[in-house]
Amino acid sequence: MKKVHNFNAGPCVLPREAVNTAIEALTDFAGTGMSVIEVSHRSKEWEAQMAECEALWRELLEIPENYKVLFLGGGASMQFCMVPFNLMEKKAAYLETGVWAKKAFKEAKGFGEAVKVATSEDKIYSYIPKGYEIPKDADYFHITTNNTIYGTEIKYDMDSPVTLIADMSSDIMSRPVNIKKYGLIYGGAQKNVGPAGVTFVIVREDLLGKVTRYIPTMLDYRTHIPEGSMFNTPPVFSIFVMKETLKWVKKMGGLKAMQKHNEDKAALLYNEIDRNSMFVGTAAKEDRSLMNVCFVMTEPYKDKEEDFMKFAKERGMVGIKGHRSVGGFRASIYNACPVDSIKALVECMQEFEKLNK
Ligand SMILES: *Cc1c(COP(=O)(O)O)cnc(C)c1O
Repeated sequence: MKKVHNFNAGPCVLPREAVNTAIEALTDFAGTGMSVIEVSHRSKEWEAQMAECEALWRELLEIPENYKVLFLGGGASMQFCMVPFNLMEKKAAYLETGVWAKKAFKEAKGFGEAVKVATSEDKIYSYIPKGYEIPKDADYFHITTNNTIYGTEIKYDMDSPVTLIADMSSDIMSRPVNIKKYGLIYGGAQKNVGPAGVTFVIVREDLLGKVTRYIPTMLDYRTHIPEGSMFNTPPVFSIFVMKETLKWVKKMGGLKAMQKHNEDKAALLYNEIDRNSMFVGTAAKEDRSLMNVCFVMTEPYKDKEEDFMKFAKERGMVGIKGHRSVGGFRASIYNACPVDSIKALVECMQEFEKLNK
C-alpha cells in the first residue's frame, strides 16, 4: 500500500487498527458468519456493539448519568436545526466564529429571536471574539469549539450564564471536557471519532420537553432516548468504526493522553511555521487550534504556494490545501494523525526553505 501522510480535514485519518478491525468485521462480524453490514440491528450481537460504544463515550468523557448519549443521522448540519427545534422557546444566543457557526445561527433565526453576540467575520474568522455579553434571558448560548476551516479553537470549557451548547464536531475527544458545563454537545463523527454517517449528541435530559411547539418525531431527541438510538435503523457500520476508534483512544491512555499527544504534535508544526520565514500562520496565536493548522506563504514568497503544494505532494502529503475562503494550507492533525506525519511535513517545509530562499 502506498504510504501517505493524511492531513484531510474530514473525512480524515483514522487509527489503522480501527480500520483493520472494521475490515475483519466486514467479512465475519462477531463470529456470526455474516458481515457487520448484513446483521440485524436488533440482534444481540449488534446490541452489544451499541452498548459498548455508549460505554466508551461515557467512560472517556466521564459523562454524568443525567446526560444521554445519542448516535443519530443527518450530520452536524442536522443539529443546526434540531437544537433550536428542541431547546429554543423564544430567544437564543450564538457566537459566530466561522461558517459552521453561521449556518447554525441561520437555522435558529427560523425559530425565534436569534442573537449574534459577536462575530470575527471581519478578519476571515482568524480569531475568537472576546468581551461579548451573553443575554441572560436566552434559552441557550451556542458555540463552535473548533473552527475547522480557520484553525481557531476554544480550548477550555467556558462559563455561561445560560445553557451552553457546543458544536464539537472537530475537537471532541481531543481533550478532557467538563461535560457538566454544557447542556448539549453535538458533532459529526468524521473529524475525530469515526467515519461519516453518524452524529453524536450528548444532552442533559432535563432540558428537553420545555418548548411548546410540535417537534417532528425524528427530530425530537426524546424519540431516540428510550430507544437507545435505535428508533429506526442506525448507521451500523459508522457506529462500528466509531466504537473501534474510541477503543484506540482508550488504549492510548484516554483523553488526558490525547491532549498531551495533540499539544505536542501541534507545537511541532506551529514552531516550524513561526521559525520558517517562508510561512506564516493565519490564526491569532492565542486561539490557535490543536486540530487544524492553517498557514500561508509570507508576502515575498506568495507566488510559491503552488510550488510548495507540488513539492509536498511528491513527498506523500495529502489534503494540505487550505479551504478556498482562507487559501494557503491547512494541515488537519486530528487524534489519529501520527507524529511521524507532522515530522514529515515539518521536514518538507525545511527542505523547501533551503531550496527556495
Ligand atoms: C464539518 C463540520 C460540520 C458539518 O458536519 P456535517 O456532519 O458534514 O454536517 C459542522 N460543524 C463543524 C465545526 C464542522 O467541522
